[in-house]
Amino acid sequence: MLVVMKDHARAEDVQHVVDLLTEAGAEAHLSQGEVKTIIGVIGDREVIYTLDLEGLPGVEQVIRVLKPFKLVSRDFQAEDTVVRVGPSSIGGGAFGVIAGPCSIESEEQMVSTARAVKAAGATMLRGGAYKPRTSPYAFQGMGVEGLRLLRIAGDEVGLPVVTEVLDVRDADTVAEYADVLQVGARNMQNFMMLDELGTMKRPVLLKRGLSATIEELLSAAEYVLKGGNRDVILCERGIRTFETYTRNTLDLGAVSALKTLTHLPVIADPSHASGRRELVAPMSRAAVAAGADGLMIEVHPDPERARCDGPQSLIPVAFSSLMEDLRPRLALEHKRLGVDG
Ligand code: PEP
Ligand code: MN
Repeated sequence: MLVVMKDHARAEDVQHVVDLLTEAGAEAHLSQGEVKTIIGVIGDREVIYTLDLEGLPGVEQVIRVLKPFKLVSRDFQAEDTVVRVGPSSIGGGAFGVIAGPCSIESEEQMVSTARAVKAAGATMLRGGAYKPRTSPYAFQGMGVEGLRLLRIAGDEVGLPVVTEVLDVRDADTVAEYADVLQVGARNMQNFMMLDELGTMKRPVLLKRGLSATIEELLSAAEYVLKGGNRDVILCERGIRTFETYTRNTLDLGAVSALKTLTHLPVIADPSHASGRRELVAPMSRAAVAAGADGLMIEVHPDPERARCDGPQSLIPVAFSSLMEDLRPRLALEHKRLGVDG
């Protein structure tokens, strides 16, 4: 951390800051120029924050130089985390493809989708039972009955299942049925939920908030790891920008940046990022090239009748040809589909 003093700050103001820091157990290193004095600080950041240095006389600015996250950082763990779920894995060269409909609608819809995506090479099945909808009048999901159908479909084809925990009160129920607990974009900074999932024995798929920075995403993941749960998958799902042609803007720079900053697996969701079916394949290819460890793709047997996100959903045959297209690209990136056998 750096404490930047105001131009020509008085010597006693500088000394006061140094004294406070020293009393708090931190080291203060002075760099004194003609006009400006800068104090470099090494010590426990939480303790230093409580000093409220920014409000002191003569202090212009306090700049953090240390990253606010630790456990998720590559500095803490250099090698990739591999999240293993039954026969599937994501990270460390294993590429995960999580496919399925936006929302669970019926047993027939789930089982037929599960069969199709499994045959095409998907490594996990998705489907929402609790849906975060902008309008309170829109379909909110099937709830526990949906979880049951998701489990049936996953078991039928032998794929682990991923579904969203919309409310921390449902976390235990969702964990009874699901293998991976998804935190949706709108809940990325629901800190109570992150704390709770940190104590649970299920991997967490953490989606980036609509206007969250990379640092905020990593700090959210830090909550889960801090609770003891090391199995977190990060998901870039598009951020809100001035562009309205696409539903969101897929930030592939963030995928590459995250790969340098964290050991956690990073996947991309071109479906929610683009909102347009025709962009899902090109954005998937781009995500592979950007270094993603996986993809989340919405697939529906009859998108026109989907109760949620039909326009961005692929039909099974389109998903299947995308998977074929991706295979040689994965090999180029020294990755393979994350499934046993
Ligand atoms: C979803 O994956 O179903 C979903 C609602 O995504 P997001 O939270 O990224 O909007
Ligand atoms: Mn959706």
